[in-house]
Amino acid sequence: MKAWRLKAYNQPLSYEEIPDPEITDPTDVIVKIGGAGVCRTDLHLIEGVWAETLGTPLPFTIGHENAGWVYKKGSSVTEFEIGDPVIVHPVVSCGKCLSCRAGEDMHCDNLKFPGLTVDGGYAEYLKTSERALIKLDEHVKPADVAPLADAGITAYRAVKKAAPFAKPGTKVLMIGMGGLGHIGVQLMREFGQADIIAMDTNDERLNMALEYGADDGVRGGQNAIAEIRKLTHNKGVDVIIDFVGTDETHADSMKMLRKGGSYFVVGYGGALHVPSLDIINNEFNIIGNLVGNYNELYELMQLYAKGKIKLHSTQYALEEADKVLHLLEEGKINGRAVLVPS
Ligand SMILES: [Zn+2]
Ligand SMILES: [Zn+2]
Repeated sequence: MKAWRLKAYNQPLSYEEIPDPEITDPTDVIVKIGGAGVCRTDLHLIEGVWAETLGTPLPFTIGHENAGWVYKKGSSVTEFEIGDPVIVHPVVSCGKCLSCRAGEDMHCDNLKFPGLTVDGGYAEYLKTSERALIKLDEHVKPADVAPLADAGITAYRAVKKAAPFAKPGTKVLMIGMGGLGHIGVQLMREFGQADIIAMDTNDERLNMALEYGADDGVRGGQNAIAEIRKLTHNKGVDVIIDFVGTDETHADSMKMLRKGGSYFVVGYGGALHVPSLDIINNEFNIIGNLVGNYNELYELMQLYAKGKIKLHSTQYALEEADKVLHLLEEGKINGRAVLVPS
């Protein structure tokens, strides 16, 4: 099959013919990819940001936001038939460790993460496990929902954690209206009672956020802190969900958060430096967020099926992955880009 391989850091991916994945465990499922979302994490993988943390040997196939059809299955797979349309939870979890038993797939002691630690979905076929699959309605096209498998579920988990703080009369600031942010605004509109302020450096994305339910749009950049101060009578916002996670958004967030406020970090790559005096004096909560568990993806799919969440995405041929990654890097993708094998 054809697949995009990460062979060396800070080099373009290589589009190659590699052997199809094979069933090696009775719980394995091979999914024929219908769509693979293109995520900023893919850029971070190419940059080597994850190299030390994960230690994944090169080369491997990236792509962790996948949906498609069951193509082959191991002997113990009972809940799925060949040809079933499915969305793929991003990780292969063991189901036996304490974290799995608590439902926290992302914390599994024996975690495999296709696209990060083993071969992923920028390819024609993907190996995952039965535990990771959620069946789609017959009329749902996998390519249309693939971004929910990562962008969607990540926004869902963060917003669900933040929603109890988003009481009537409070203000929630969401930074970055890209693939995650535009879903996050819709989810906060569903789960929270706060006024939603969307922030982005791009007017088109800000307008999209306003259409999706944000109450105010603020342009990111030099005047952002002053704008937020103005909108909050100089007090700051109660909740920030940061989908960007650069040095700048981290530093600015600490100046835009009100006393007792909560800062949810979703995007990453920067470093957060905050004096402990500021944390205790302001009683800031700083909360990390990593993708989401299986049930959260299931819940999100129910909201999507009811038409409560819209996905803004553009489909490209699998062959175009390299070009699409460049567009993402240059900030030229609105919503999510999805790669579709021919
Ligand atoms: Zn991702
Ligand atoms: Zn486990």
